Amino acid sequence: MIINPRVSSLLGSSTLKITALAKKLKSEGRDVVNLAAGEPDFDTPQFIKDAAKKAIDDGFTKYTPSSGTLVLREAIARKLELENKIPCTSNNIIVTTGAKYAIFAAIFTLIGKNDEVIIPCPYWVSYPEMVKLSGGKIKYLRTLAKNNFKIKASDLERAITAKTKLLILNYPANPTGITYDFNELQSIYEIAKKKKIFVLSDEIYEKLIYDGRAHHSFAAFKEADSFTLTVNGFSKSFSMTGWRIGYLVAAQEIIIQASKLIDHTTSCVSSISQAAACAAFKNSGWQAQMRADFEEKRNLLWEGLRECPKISAQQSSGTFYMFCDITKTGLTSTQFASQLLEKYQVCVIPADSFGAEGYVRLSFAASVEEIKKGIQRIKKFLSEL
Ligand code: PMP
Ligand code: GLU
Repeated sequence: MIINPRVSSLLGSSTLKITALAKKLKSEGRDVVNLAAGEPDFDTPQFIKDAAKKAIDDGFTKYTPSSGTLVLREAIARKLELENKIPCTSNNIIVTTGAKYAIFAAIFTLIGKNDEVIIPCPYWVSYPEMVKLSGGKIKYLRTLAKNNFKIKASDLERAITAKTKLLILNYPANPTGITYDFNELQSIYEIAKKKKIFVLSDEIYEKLIYDGRAHHSFAAFKEADSFTLTVNGFSKSFSMTGWRIGYLVAAQEIIIQASKLIDHTTSCVSSISQAAACAAFKNSGWQAQMRADFEEKRNLLWEGLRECPKISAQQSSGTFYMFCDITKTGLTSTQFASQLLEKYQVCVIPADSFGAEGYVRLSFAASVEEIKKGIQRIKKFLSEL
C-alpha cells in the first residue's frame, strides 16, 4: 500500500493517545490516577447543554454557512472587541471544528512548500505535524527553564530569515504553563512587525491564568490585527472539548481563503454545537469560579511536587499543566511515564513529544483527591528509584 508520505511521516498525538489510555484503564475498573488530562475535569455547564437540547427540538439540525452562523460570529466578534480589544467584525471570523482545526486552517492557508515556520520549543504536539502537512519547514526556537521557557525577542530576531513566514505563539502555554506579560509580548510584536512575518496566536487557555495576571491578546497591539491569526475556542473556557468548536480570527483576505478549506473538508461545525456556543457567551459568570478552582488545584500540586525528591516543577502561570524536570531520576521521559503507570498507576505525559526530553507534563485537571493520591504515589515511586 502506498501512503502519501506527508501523512505517513506524521507522528500520532501522544496527548490524545495517553488520555484515551487513562480513560480506558479507569473504565476497566483500574485504580488509575489520571494526571495526563488535556481537558477540564468537570461537565459542560447545564445552561449550555439546555441550549443544545433546544436546538435539536427546534430542528436546528441542518448545515449552517461554512464559516459559522452569523449570530455566533457576531457574538464572537463582540467578545473579542470587549474582552480582548481585538478590532474585528463577523467577517474576520470562521467557526471551526475545535481550535485544532482553526490552527490547521491558519497554517494550511498561509504556508506552502519551503515557507519557514518558527515554533518555540517546548511546543504543543500538533503544531509541527500541521506544518509538516502543509509542506512548510519548521524552525524550532529553543527556550530555557532559566528564562521560564519564554522566547527572547533577540533570539526571535536572529531566527528569522527571508523565508520565515509565520511564528506560532501559544500563551498561556501548553505544555509549560507559562504565560507572557504585556512588555514581553510587546517586544515580540515589534520584531514581527519589523520583519513582516505573520503570528499565529493560540490563546485557547486565556481564561485559565493565575496570581492576578492579565491576559493580553497579541492582535490587540496597534495594527497587529493585520498580521495576527488568533485562535480561540470553547473547549477549555467552557469545558466543551467533545463539542468540537473553536474559531479563527484574521484579516478578511485570509478568512475568505481559509473558509474555502472548510467548504471542502468539514462543511461546517455541528449546528447544535454552534447553538450551544451562543448560549455559552450569554452566561460566562461561572468562569471565575472555574479559574479559582484550578488555581487551588495548581497550588496543591505545586506544594506536593516541591516535597518530591528528584523532580523540579515549573510553577504554572496559566493552563492546567505543570511542567517537571525529571532528569535527576536518570530516566528518560518515556521511561519515567511508563514506569510510573506500570508500578503506581499514575498517568502523566512524557514531554519528548513536546520536544523536551527530560521533562514530563502533569495536569491538575483532576479532583483534589486524585491530585493528593497522585503525589503520594509519585513520592513512593521516586523513593524506590
Ligand atoms: N491549542 C492548544 C495549545 C491545546 O492544548 C489544544 C488542546 N485541546 C488545542 C489548541 C485544541 O483545542 P480544541 O480541543 O478546541 O481543538
Ligand atoms: N490539548 C490537549 C492536550 O494537550 C488535548 C489533547 C490534544 O488535543 O492534543 O492534552
